[in-house]
Amino acid sequence: MDLGLQGKVFIVTGGAKGIGEAISKLIAAEGGSVVIAGRSETDNNKAVDAIIASGGKATAVTAELGNVDACRNVITATIAKYGKIDGLVNNAGANDGVGLENGSPEKFMQSLQLNLSHYYNLAHFALPYLKATKGNIVNIGSKVATTGQGNTSGYAASKGAINALTREWAVELLPAGVRVNTVIPAEVWTPLYETWINSLPNPTEKLASITAKIPFERRMTTSEEIANTTVFLLSERSSHTTGQILYVDGGYTHLDRSIS
Ligand code: NAP
Repeated sequence: MDLGLQGKVFIVTGGAKGIGEAISKLIAAEGGSVVIAGRSETDNNKAVDAIIASGGKATAVTAELGNVDACRNVITATIAKYGKIDGLVNNAGANDGVGLENGSPEKFMQSLQLNLSHYYNLAHFALPYLKATKGNIVNIGSKVATTGQGNTSGYAASKGAINALTREWAVELLPAGVRVNTVIPAEVWTPLYETWINSLPNPTEKLASITAKIPFERRMTTSEEIANTTVFLLSERSSHTTGQILYVDGGYTHLDRSIS
């Protein structure tokens, strides 16, 4: 299937690592130009170099996305280089463990700033350009918004809000012909996941117990599987899909655990 990404420009936040890196690579492999926006210049450059080495088109903007001006600059720099935006992938985030008991009002607000505000800010600043191309937005959420996890109020609140904003923006942008969807991962092996599992008392046992509960094939989802659904949603092949929240999780969030 030709996804028709040739000549199109897509911003991927956190596009240098993990799920974001897989999305960046797939967009480039399909002929699109990728703008990676992330906080580490070194990681960004490494990811851009890898894409260019495999014949793709990519560039990067270094940005701590919790900062409003950095978000504005991501859009300004993209327009300066390419003159248009066909899609925005809001992906950057971290399960930062700001709990109800163990957190604080300040840490809670900071978690929202790092996990939620930039989803709004980038969509806001990109909007005139997305309207011009009838482009679209794909948000990366988390199953935590549906299931909770414990000890991660800021992250859970952010991901819950992202689901709500998916519907809200899809409605607001109907007249503009701009689609908005969200992809929900559950258990995906990435640098973030590795850090989280290693923060637990018995990481190897914990990983085995989680994997055993993933209904489809008893395995983790790959970043590439998240990327496949994300890039399909970015493409015109999903031209009548908007306001949807898609769980790419091997059935982890919803299926009956007693079925083997
Ligand atoms: P990852 O391996 O940590 O990659 C995320 C990338 O985004 C990193 O390069 C990170 O930089 C960057 N980043 C994060 N917050 C940023 C910020 N505020 N400003 C600039 N750059 C920022 O994470 P991942 O596992 O691929 O997660 C990607 C998305 O999937 C997140 O939204 C996460 O909530 C969601 N998700 C993942 C899983 C999973 O199982 N992995 C499950 C559910 C949801 P640093 O490395 O410098 O932090």
